[in-house]
Amino acid sequence: MFSGAGATVISFSVRKTILRVVDQAAELAQVTLAPERAGLVSVVESRQLAFDLEQRPVAKPTAANVDLLIKATLDTHEPELELPAVRVSGRMRRTLGSYMPSRKQIAISSRLLAMGEDDDIRQVVLHEVAHAIVHARWGSKPSAHGREFRLVCNEIGAKPRRYVDVATAQWGSQVRYLSKCGHCNVLIVRKRRVNSVRCICGLKLYPKSWRAVAPAERGTDGDWVML
Ligand SMILES: [Zn+2]
Ligand SMILES: [Zn+2]
Repeated sequence: MFSGAGATVISFSVRKTILRVVDQAAELAQVTLAPERAGLVSVVESRQLAFDLEQRPVAKPTAANVDLLIKATLDTHEPELELPAVRVSGRMRRTLGSYMPSRKQIAISSRLLAMGEDDDIRQVVLHEVAHAIVHARWGSKPSAHGREFRLVCNEIGAKPRRYVDVATAQWGSQVRYLSKCGHCNVLIVRKRRVNSVRCICGLKLYPKSWRAVAPAERGTDGDWVML
């Protein structure tokens, strides 16, 4: 029954919806239920954790499309310039992209890659490519977003501005935190980095670290993408 590709897609989207609902139910239960009703809490929790048994894959964000966009842009506008592969950074918060002249390297925020709109990613990448081209043509003399920068932006189709406007307000609600039970290796997913969590194997865990992840909906390999 689930052998066809269509069936797989349907079951995936249903699973996601259920996962969200269960996620929210567990969240609500944890917040609103008094400790004496802990029995009910553990029922809700085990429902969510049972879902995690499916072990949605966790993948590193890939920037292959970004590298392709950069290469295509350079091939047309600055064919002599070669840049190393884009660095995907999980540490960038306010900055969505950067260009480091000493390494000729463009870095892109993993959050932008995982949760940004395609056009936002494109604009940020082209903005950084413009910096790279300015550096290749004029060295470090021109001011960062000066005349030369605007010239190159117009040439490659980037907005000739200091900033790229990206709506990031809703990204936070998509982020989840993931830990692994050291006993049974089940992945545990929560909306917050809680201090303790009980696994379906019965073990109470006090995770030292939670890994921030986002749902992979951009054609990446895993169901979760690391941030
Ligand atoms: Zn800039
Ligand atoms: Zn376990």
